[in-house]
Amino acid sequence: MSRTGKEYLERIRDGRTVWLGTERVTDVTAHPAFARAAASIAGLYDAARDDALTVAGPDGRRTHRAFDIARSYGDLVAKRRAHRAWAKQSFGFLGRSPDYMASGVAGFAARPDVFVGQGFDGSEVAIELHGRLRGEDLFAAFTITNPSTDRSRPIAAQASPELFLRVERETDAGIVVSGSKMIGTGAVFADEIVVGTIEPLRPEDTEFAFSFVLEPGTPGVSLVSRASYEQTAGGERDNPISGRFDENDSLLVCESVFVPWERVLTYRDTKTTFGMWWDTPAYTNMAHQASTRFWTKLEFLAGLAVLITRGNGSADNPMVRAEVGRLLGYVQLARSSVLAAEAAYEQRPDDGGAVRLDTSITFAQRILAGELYPKFVHQIRMLSGGSLTQVPASWDDLRDTEVGPLLATYAASVTQPADERVALMKLAWDAVGSEFASRHAHYEQFYQGAPHVYLTQMTFTPDADACAAEAQRALDLA
Ligand SMILES: Cc1cc2nc3c(=O)[nH]c(=O)nc-3n(C[C@H](O)[C@H](O)[C@H](O)COP(=O)(O)OP(=O)(O)OC[C@H]3O[C@@H](n4cnc5c(N)ncnc54)[C@H](O)[C@@H]3O)c2cc1C
Repeated sequence: MSRTGKEYLERIRDGRTVWLGTERVTDVTAHPAFARAAASIAGLYDAARDDALTVAGPDGRRTHRAFDIARSYGDLVAKRRAHRAWAKQSFGFLGRSPDYMASGVAGFAARPDVFVGQGFDGSEVAIELHGRLRGEDLFAAFTITNPSTDRSRPIAAQASPELFLRVERETDAGIVVSGSKMIGTGAVFADEIVVGTIEPLRPEDTEFAFSFVLEPGTPGVSLVSRASYEQTAGGERDNPISGRFDENDSLLVCESVFVPWERVLTYRDTKTTFGMWWDTPAYTNMAHQASTRFWTKLEFLAGLAVLITRGNGSADNPMVRAEVGRLLGYVQLARSSVLAAEAAYEQRPDDGGAVRLDTSITFAQRILAGELYPKFVHQIRMLSGGSLTQVPASWDDLRDTEVGPLLATYAASVTQPADERVALMKLAWDAVGSEFASRHAHYEQFYQGAPHVYLTQMTFTPDADACAAEAQRALDLA
């Protein structure tokens, strides 16, 4: 059986160092800034005890299908169903749920040959990583972005290259590393962190080209958290989303951290350090979770729009119908991008029998996320009008003997009693108006890379030539 939520929570009580402001938090499962998000992740493990979400590994132990190396279209569909079941648990707000990186390590294990570099062979480590995470049903977060101090120079030419994660010294047993990586979404809740670099590295950056796996409780590791939205959340009806699903983002800082060779995936090699994400099915696997989660989140947001317009008595207005219809249409486009990437799956000769999603469709999904999410947020605000902010400080005020009767009269709508209407508007504000909501808008824009990277990447797919050939065909008619 897959591990229980309780087992997950016990394991992350490892004395890790998490900084929240100047406070050093050692147990995120018990701290008011983190505990409810940790409980939500534990809830995912409890839900995954359903057989449909899991698959048996070589040892017979069942774990989430994200760990599975898909070998057929049917496997891809089963994986998506499991991603979707988890995404529904958080309405798509847990972006880096454990199935994200689990899919990535399945991608690594499908192509261990990619980890064979010049002078270092990480192929066994990649296989062992997949087997271990899968065997113990572990949650890996990842930090694979370098600090944005000066994007105009290679790391080696930075004014302060010591900010970047680098190898301090090498021993027979492993490497000692210092420096930082961003952004560890979910890292404070993870069993392990995959550390590396997903962007292309220049030849002069070879000494910064390495990747490894780390336990957050390792001496010398600090995770510096951003402000917690969970901590400032009100009651369950005031902040139903941010109070439960604040997955956290943190800066990873390593100070003379020892990493044994058995945890080093690539070493002093720009090709393998980059290739582990792009030449294996890791990226398309992770995007499978991401695009399924995105579709699920849009479904929730479109549902909010429907409920709000019904509550406002505007649902039958033809203009309002058109705007809600547009959102419902976008949900289907997001869904279609997932189903199409599966149906057009690739079976590459080097992938050893594994299949991966269609690369072009998967890459295009990032554009969909970056462009559609702000539209949904904007449209829900527009459809709500002032009612989105015209809510009492707390939903509990409705139960107060003095202000309660006042709210019951004046905070109701034509179709909704005050308690339902206030609950709906508070849910909507939490999802699209709050600081937590703003972080989500930023997440959907950047978590798969910056637009100047992913838009440019489209031009390197075979699509550019295929589209150009079509235009050329029209020219050739003359
Ligand atoms: C909420 C959130 C969660 C995240 N979670 C994770 C995570 O879990 N793990 C992880 O590793 N990373 C994570 N990230 C990091 C994410 O992968 C990066 O933010 C993303 O790849 C963009 O890189 P950057 O932030 O360094 O932006 P930069 O590369 O610094 O770009 C920022 C902006 O600068 C401009 N710019 C910079 N260079 C150029 C150029 N060459 N041409 C044109 N314009 C340019 C553009 O306007 C660009 O949008 C997360 C980010 C966010 C916001």
